[in-house]
Amino acid sequence: MAENCIFCRIAGKEIPADLVYEDDQAVAFKDLEPQAPMHVLVIPKKHAASLLELQPEDNAIAAHILCEVIPALARKLGLAAGGFRVVVNTGEDGGQSVRHLHFHILGGRSMQWPPG
Ligand code: AMP
Repeated sequence: MAENCIFCRIAGKEIPADLVYEDDQAVAFKDLEPQAPMHVLVIPKKHAASLLELQPEDNAIAAHILCEVIPALARKLGLAAGGFRVVVNTGEDGGQSVRHLHFHILGGRSMQWPPG
């Protein structure tokens, strides 16, 4: 757990969030400022500031989130039929504002490309 990390504190239940999923490695909760009718964040419980901090030993958690948690959540949240977008903002130019790795799941409307 990283000091003063808001997402570590959500994972540790120190501050409340609208949780939609939890297992021993990951947590998912509704985004506080939703950018789509459905907007959920999936985070690893183990702190990593961004994708750039992931190490080879993190392969299993990254695969777990991508291959299991996100598809299962997309189905549970009713996004599988219409499709959805997964976004991992990274660093300043990537628009990352919270320095704990998170996967945005956005759905419930048609997305545009390119993103802003
Ligand atoms: P990013 O800009 O990619 O770092 O995304 C951070 C996201 O976290 C933003 O969409 C925020 O709305 C969201 N966020 C920040 N604090 C909270 C919180 N306490 N609970 C839920 N979502 C949050």
